[in-house]
Amino acid sequence: MTNFIGGKWVPSSSGQTFRTRNPADQREVVAEYPLSGQADAAAAISAARASWPAWAGLGSVGRGRILSRASQILESRRDALAEALTREEGKTLAESKGEVQRAVDIFRFFGGLSYTLGGQTIPHDLPNNLLYTVREPLGVVALITPWNFPIAIPAWKIAPALVSGNAVVIKPASPAPGMTLALAHALEEAGLPAGVLNVVVGDGRAVGGELAANPAVAGLSFTGSHAVGHQVYLQLAQRMARAQMEMGGKNPTIVLADADLDLAVSLVVRAGFGLTGQACTATSRVIVERAIMGPFLEKLVAKARALKVGPGLSAGVEMGPAVSQAQLDGNLAAVAQARSEGAELLCGGARLTQGDLGHGLFMEPTVLGGVTATMGVAREEIFGPVLAVMAADGFEEALALANGVDVGLSASIVTKDLRKAMLYSQRIEAGVVKVNQISTGLALQAPFGGVKKSSTDSFKEQGAGAVEFYTRVKTVYVDYSQ
Ligand code: NAD
Repeated sequence: MTNFIGGKWVPSSSGQTFRTRNPADQREVVAEYPLSGQADAAAAISAARASWPAWAGLGSVGRGRILSRASQILESRRDALAEALTREEGKTLAESKGEVQRAVDIFRFFGGLSYTLGGQTIPHDLPNNLLYTVREPLGVVALITPWNFPIAIPAWKIAPALVSGNAVVIKPASPAPGMTLALAHALEEAGLPAGVLNVVVGDGRAVGGELAANPAVAGLSFTGSHAVGHQVYLQLAQRMARAQMEMGGKNPTIVLADADLDLAVSLVVRAGFGLTGQACTATSRVIVERAIMGPFLEKLVAKARALKVGPGLSAGVEMGPAVSQAQLDGNLAAVAQARSEGAELLCGGARLTQGDLGHGLFMEPTVLGGVTATMGVAREEIFGPVLAVMAADGFEEALALANGVDVGLSASIVTKDLRKAMLYSQRIEAGVVKVNQISTGLALQAPFGGVKKSSTDSFKEQGAGAVEFYTRVKTVYVDYSQ
């Protein structure tokens, strides 16, 4: 595989490469990629800059047609892309199919939205005067994405960036860069002019650092960890470039005493162990009213133990492997730390090594009980299949526990009490609230983003409003009174 710069498929300037391996079977090399550095990123930025004026001049409807065509091309490849996604990132085939379909739909959505992009007319104080706004592209924008939704996240940044008339340089995460290159292939075939989209695969610090520091990059949208996002944000702030940083969470699901327990358990299992817990919106804290703790835990542990863990391409598998050895090691270390702090291991907690599973990065779905607010497992994102269960005496305490962290991405509540559900939706410090639903899963047509340390909270992603980050408003005054 190669980079995509200025409409050409090229190796890294150093000629260096790296390989990805199948997380379900580390013996299998999935692909070899360029290990790009600062010079490659700089070349991509130059190519984007050169292509930008013509792309901006095409108009949004012309740009939207290319996005719609790309959507169709992606859809025609859905099954092959889903299989490749599972091979590289590890999630189950059903999860990959859903994610590829999401990318298809995102391009279709922004293709259609191209007909609606425009500004506002505003009444002027005087007659025969026209006062209106237009939205203009920023110029060259950079995108830095994580590995956990390797096609959906690049799609939900690339599509609004392009339809708004920007030229793009994207750096996908190294554990799973293949899907971003697949998007570039589809857009190239759909007729995207050379240089309008550039993909640079390689070292986070070198490539990402250049994207953040280069003065030709007018804005940067980042999704990833808080540690990296914070660093990139400081670089952007120094030159006052536009920034959108979407980062991690520690998402709570509250289960109130009146909840349907089977529903609550099934929601928590899907939101905590689906995608191997590797979703920014995954439930990682379960806050349960003490009165129902016993029966809730019994059902939760039984369901967690029954989950079929294995290679995502195998039929019937419900949970795939961790993406990398580092991620698996981090998950296991978090469980060990929680136990040392006094949490009780109710199920799971170990690597799975029986038979062929030993070649992959598999871990048991894990439930920790007796977790209290000061433990690391109640405060720090793990990004793995680990649920921390905490007890609360009533709604107010549950809410206080839910809000007692420095991040706020997604939050869920399971209850039949409409009043408490509505109070929760008002008072929870989170960007997304779900009532009787899993904390994961988003509508592509609705705004998405976090609060507190989960986000710079400057602009929302997804939905029609996603174009706001990628455009600036110009105000025009026309006097035709004489
Ligand atoms: P990460 O922060 O390690 O990497 C994200 C991206 O930044 C990668 O492309 C990486 O190569 C790049 N990078 C690394 N160092 C860099 C540097 N110094 N300068 C510039 N770029 C650099 O995150 P990850 O492990 O890929 O993803 C997991 C994290 O992403 C989790 O914290 C998760 O919660 C978060 N996430 C958030 C959302 C959201 O929408 N809020 C969605 C998905 C994932």
